[in-house]
Amino acid sequence: MIRLVLFGAPGCGKGTQGDLLEEKYGYKKISTGDLIRAEVKAGSETGRKVKAIMEKGELVSDEIIIEMVKNRVKQDDITLGYTMDGFPRTLEQAKALSNIPVERETAIFLKVDEEAVVERLVSRLTCKNCSAIFNTKNKAPQKEGLCDECGGKLERRKDDNEETIRSRIAVYKEQTEPAVKYYRENSTLYEVDAAGTPAEIFAKLEEIVK
Ligand SMILES: [Zn+2]
Repeated sequence: MIRLVLFGAPGCGKGTQGDLLEEKYGYKKISTGDLIRAEVKAGSETGRKVKAIMEKGELVSDEIIIEMVKNRVKQDDITLGYTMDGFPRTLEQAKALSNIPVERETAIFLKVDEEAVVERLVSRLTCKNCSAIFNTKNKAPQKEGLCDECGGKLERRKDDNEETIRSRIAVYKEQTEPAVKYYRENSTLYEVDAAGTPAEIFAKLEEIVK
């Protein structure tokens, strides 16, 4: 069983890379956002607990999240390995994750230029109907304001504005730096320049994963 841990500030494209790794190598992508949504939808005991916490506007604790990760990696569809996307975010989470045994663990830090991320995210448009993503800079829709896939209305997400993006990046750096350092000292950490297209970045990841 192999565990890949993808680090990278919001907008670095780690979610896309996680999907590509799953497609080609069968390493299941685990994102805590997806786990939370799945538990809530399933109405499990954890799901009900999490729902109540979120309805109060509170953060789901590390303890609950790590419990969900533990349950997820035990499921039958995970045979070769898995990729953590967006977790661990903190040193505590990194230590907790280390307690789930694997044969090999590799952490990859996707480095991006903050200005490039801000530019990419502020020019992003999302379809209200099918969630397809466009970009006024490099993937403009054929008809302005309308989705190529379904004709739905395109909108800018509320949190895709410069101020919010910069503050998300700052929070990420501050929280996650100790976790990255932990991997640098206790495991294998590769740093990858995440400029370029998803295919170009994936080619670099494949060199590491192979
Ligand atoms: Zn659409």
